[in-house]
Amino acid sequence: MTSTQARHTRRAVLQAAVDADARCAGMDPDLFFRADDEPDTDWHTRRAQAIRLCTGCPMRAACEELALRNGDGELDADELVRAGLTGPELAAVRSAQAVRLAAAVDADRDTEGRQLDQLTVELVTEAGKTPDSSRNGGPRATALRAAAQTHRLRTLAAQIRQIRTARRARNGWEVAA
Ligand code: SF4
Repeated sequence: MTSTQARHTRRAVLQAAVDADARCAGMDPDLFFRADDEPDTDWHTRRAQAIRLCTGCPMRAACEELALRNGDGELDADELVRAGLTGPELAAVRSAQAVRLAAAVDADRDTEGRQLDQLTVELVTEAGKTPDSSRNGGPRATALRAAAQTHRLRTLAAQIRQIRTARRARNGWEVAA
């Protein structure tokens, strides 16, 4: 793999690592977010809990890199914890690494865009095919070809859904971490 290819697949590698071993897997994501109008004392207690959880997480570095690439955290809004950092802390790291992160985010977007384009073309092409009943094998072989086509269509649709879900999760944390 070239260094360019490695750069373009970095996000997927990071996300897979976090999905596999996140310490917060299966936990309520609300633990990491301040609720609307939550008093300071309550939030500070939960924030400390979340930071403690992250401190022992083996995926902390990957989680931080994803959070930075996602643009999580704002300098003037103490309302989340990710990878053991508060929103203002994440924003400060993002500013300090702005040039590197801009290149990384561009690579992420290129990769996803190209994958989605390619998968969509494959899906449309596959959907336009008709299992050929005039080919050898009779009705049973035709039925098997139709079943194989359905399986390919489902697989392609699932891959497209996975990329789109990952994009949404990046903005809304629909899955853990
Ligand atoms: S938020 Fe990130 S660092 Fe914290 S427990 Fe979850 S995966 Fe680990």
